Amino acid sequence: MSSNINTPIIALIGRPNVGKSTLFNRITRSRNALVDPTPGVTRDRHYERVVWDNKGFILVDTGGIDDNPEDALVHHIREQAMFAIEEADIVLFLMDAKEGVTPADWEVIDILRRAKKPVYHVVNKIDSASKEVELLTPFYELGAEQLWPLSAEHSYGFPSLMENLCGAIASDDTEGPDLPEGTVKVAFFGRPNVGKSSLINTILGEERMVVSEISGTTRDSVDTLVTHGNYSYCFIDTAGIRRKGKTTEKLEKFSILKSLAAMGRCDVAAVLIDAEEGITEQDTKVIGYVLEEGRGLIVLVNKWDLLGGDKKKQEQVMAEVGRALPFVGYAPVLTVSALTGYGIKRFFPVIGSVFRQFTASFPTSALNNLLRDAVDAHSPPIYKNKRLKFYYTAQVGTRPPKFVVMTNSEKGVHFSYERYLVNRFREGLGLDKVPIKLIFKDKSEQRKKNQG
Ligand code: GDP
Ligand code: GDP
Repeated sequence: MSSNINTPIIALIGRPNVGKSTLFNRITRSRNALVDPTPGVTRDRHYERVVWDNKGFILVDTGGIDDNPEDALVHHIREQAMFAIEEADIVLFLMDAKEGVTPADWEVIDILRRAKKPVYHVVNKIDSASKEVELLTPFYELGAEQLWPLSAEHSYGFPSLMENLCGAIASDDTEGPDLPEGTVKVAFFGRPNVGKSSLINTILGEERMVVSEISGTTRDSVDTLVTHGNYSYCFIDTAGIRRKGKTTEKLEKFSILKSLAAMGRCDVAAVLIDAEEGITEQDTKVIGYVLEEGRGLIVLVNKWDLLGGDKKKQEQVMAEVGRALPFVGYAPVLTVSALTGYGIKRFFPVIGSVFRQFTASFPTSALNNLLRDAVDAHSPPIYKNKRLKFYYTAQVGTRPPKFVVMTNSEKGVHFSYERYLVNRFREGLGLDKVPIKLIFKDKSEQRKKNQG
């Protein structure tokens, strides 16, 4: 069972040029880090999901804008610090040993102190032990409990920083509350006001089901266990949605990063879109994350009632949604209304089929037959004067289904043939509603590895 805690967000903050991106790269590109290199749709990103010594976190580099004029600079740093305060669970505050303590550093310290978040005060560019005392001394006046000398570039101080940091994070495999076996974990995402809490309440109110609350280990999350027919579902509370409905009507602040942090906990992500407003850039970003995270996806176009049965408008909205989401053509799109209850009945059956596909596994013999038929029906291209060959395949994972395909040339498998095979696997295995992954491996490389 997976953790009941959202993945912690660790933010790197500090002035431009202190070494934030160097440290970001050192952490994310290290061999210790298991970073899934799925090419995503969000390329401009400054975050990475990292698993380090079995501890998972999302690392965020808040830098990036560094050609601001002088006065705007302080403003920008303040903004960054504010961002870190709101989003991050842990802050790595970097300073530059070569520059000493600057007024901007004091500003950040002041903000961080008030925020009461765990902060690591890191003094970077201390490239060797011999310089440590001399370079670190000026920073003691900050009054930080502990200073962390570091060379992001040459790794001095890095192992102890990482060890301590990981010690502060709960293990990735921390047991969550006991859920009945086969429980489908569903999380709702979407911008404020799109109707998440209304929809959940409608679902819980309309259908015959048994509902119980599971208090999360985090401050404001309340998960809901729902038993419906023979199945159970856990509605993961991503942003205090449930609590909001009960207490104040305080408008939730939308955080794409927090959505990402919650995504690790779900099997199926239900992303809500407002039918009247249409799909927005934030919506496509969240859906991009679902894709990158390899979760099952259901798109719910809510407030369908507001279109008032206007066929033309309805078609327009659906066409727009389709155009905006070319990467996730497999995802079921449901039109619903939390207000009238329209479409809600279809929700559970769709979750069920997405989940069954998401967790499906297949015998190797059937997979090999499928691969052989696919290759016979459409011969692979020539690559470097040799015909591309596929030897065998096997399933190597579920959630979502992943298959390894052994070939004579991994590099020779171009996008179009890969897409062809993916489509044949989808058809042949009845996996039309979830992402699937084909991983191509060189047979000769594999043999070398096994021998070496
Ligand atoms: P950012 O603007 O905070 O992201 O800073 P960068 O990571 O881009 O680094 C700014 C400059 O400092 C680059 O020229 C880096 O090579 C250099 N730098 C980063 N870390 C170290 C370090 O540990 N030691 C030294 N000597 N230089 C570093
Ligand atoms: P959340 O911020 O995503 O949790 O959104 P809420 O559930 O608080 O809904 C925001 C507003 O939209 C409320 O005023 C709801 O009554 C309204 N709303 C939610 N769903 C629907 C719907 O299907 N149709 C209409 N017309 N209004 C809705």
